[in-house]
Amino acid sequence: MKSLNWVSRFLDETPGDSEVGGKPRQVLGACWSRVKPTPTPKPVLRLWSYKMAEELGVNYGGDEFLGGKDILDGMDCYAQRYGGHQFGNWAGQLGDGRAITLGEVDTGAKVFDIQLKGSGVTPYSRFADGKAVLRSSIREFICSEAMYYLGIPTTRVLSMVTTGEDVVRDVLYNGNPAPEPGAIVCRVAESFIRFGSFQIHAITGDTETLRSLVEYTVKHHFPKHNIATDESIIEWLKQIADETALMIAHWMRVGFVHGVMNTDNMSIHGLTIDYGPYGWIEDYDLGWTPNTTDAGRKRYRFGNQAQIGAWNFARLLESIGPIMSDPEMLYQALDFFYESYEIHSNSMWADKLGIEVLEKSDDELIEEMTSLLQSTETDMTIFFRLLSSIDTPDIKHLKYAFYKVDEIPVEQWNNWLNKWWKRVDSNPDKTKMNKANPKYVLRNWMAQLAIDAAEEEDYTIAEELCKLLENPYDDQPDFEEKWFQKRPEWARNRVGCSMLSCSS
Ligand code: AMP
Ligand code: MG
Repeated sequence: MKSLNWVSRFLDETPGDSEVGGKPRQVLGACWSRVKPTPTPKPVLRLWSYKMAEELGVNYGGDEFLGGKDILDGMDCYAQRYGGHQFGNWAGQLGDGRAITLGEVDTGAKVFDIQLKGSGVTPYSRFADGKAVLRSSIREFICSEAMYYLGIPTTRVLSMVTTGEDVVRDVLYNGNPAPEPGAIVCRVAESFIRFGSFQIHAITGDTETLRSLVEYTVKHHFPKHNIATDESIIEWLKQIADETALMIAHWMRVGFVHGVMNTDNMSIHGLTIDYGPYGWIEDYDLGWTPNTTDAGRKRYRFGNQAQIGAWNFARLLESIGPIMSDPEMLYQALDFFYESYEIHSNSMWADKLGIEVLEKSDDELIEEMTSLLQSTETDMTIFFRLLSSIDTPDIKHLKYAFYKVDEIPVEQWNNWLNKWWKRVDSNPDKTKMNKANPKYVLRNWMAQLAIDAAEEEDYTIAEELCKLLENPYDDQPDFEEKWFQKRPEWARNRVGCSMLSCSS
């Protein structure tokens, strides 16, 4: 890290807070506040992404600054100011309450933001401590890696460090706070600018700051675009629509449920960001949400993610309105989101089912399949993976995907399989299917096993999962018996597996 080429475009080119340091406060007219990580007592490097390190050009190591203890020459640390709609309600100023960007690194090929998550209070910490616990940090580390290797746009990770200090959390928000080991993840992305980064200025009526953030964002992150006219602004927003829609179509493809799709957790680059109470579908349940805070309304359930993506995108559009002459034009960008999602979703289904190009008449085939998948407990990942391996349209080849074999609606499934088989001329594109249907994903209970071991200072499971998930589409026979598995019974109702809170 010492030899890296640190630059500071964001701090140089957007307005910032004149006050320095972490005292929680309302900040006005600014995109960021300068603040340093709080030193931690005993940082120890535990997990490392070799791939990310290679891309950045850094060698293994750096417990001290990755754990927030040292600041290197060239780093200019800050917390970003943003707002957001949480669960549909405007929540005012949020901002990086426990993330501190160390600076931007120019690798020659690309400029990356390097950020520590869990490194102490910032002006945006509100009532909280600015820290993160080991369990949520492991989940963020492994899942970021898993998404990257699945080919799904995501923020990346470089490292995870334990801090040597305990952090108190009430995991289920039920009045039982307890100390847990603290940790810090080093995250990397082209930027951590979110929908909420624009909203805060629009909603507070600060058009000047809004305009300079938009100018900065387009100049550095969308260089093919400009904001000279309303038409060109719409073109820029359409790219964001398309990237956001594509990201969500990917989530639907692999059974990922983000869990907290608040507008402050929506990246302007269509990256999966802020791994909190996310979860992976086991049985195919469109109504499932991993987030206990959302258990009542299930706003962020699996099957509602595209709809929420559109809702969030509409909030971004509203916040760009103040810099346009004719804000009515923004509806074009919203329509484009829906069109774009449909295109990505159709090609996702075509890939999953080994169909060359999806036709309107295939809607029925897909609907029938998704309703059958929900009629009895069926493992999504195993079902789609096995579908590419069958040579005759008979449900007996897919038995392993079902939790209760005697409950399989055999006749209905065989009926569907025959329709599908006919549709693909008895010859589904298996290569395409295997690239769309991962064999291994980060099932909730797998992450929990890694956490249980790490809490005993054993990182071998976390490392094994990272290794496994580097090649999620490969068969990897050595790992099959252990990880190509449905949810074990112990995980059905266990905290951290079937339900997760935002406490992290
Ligand atoms: P999230 O829903 O996890 O993305 O967080 C929502 C807001 O709460 C963001 O502004 C976070 O920075 C902030 N936040 C979450 N956890 C903490 C914490 N432990 N300390 C300070 N701020 C936090
Ligand atoms: Mg967040």
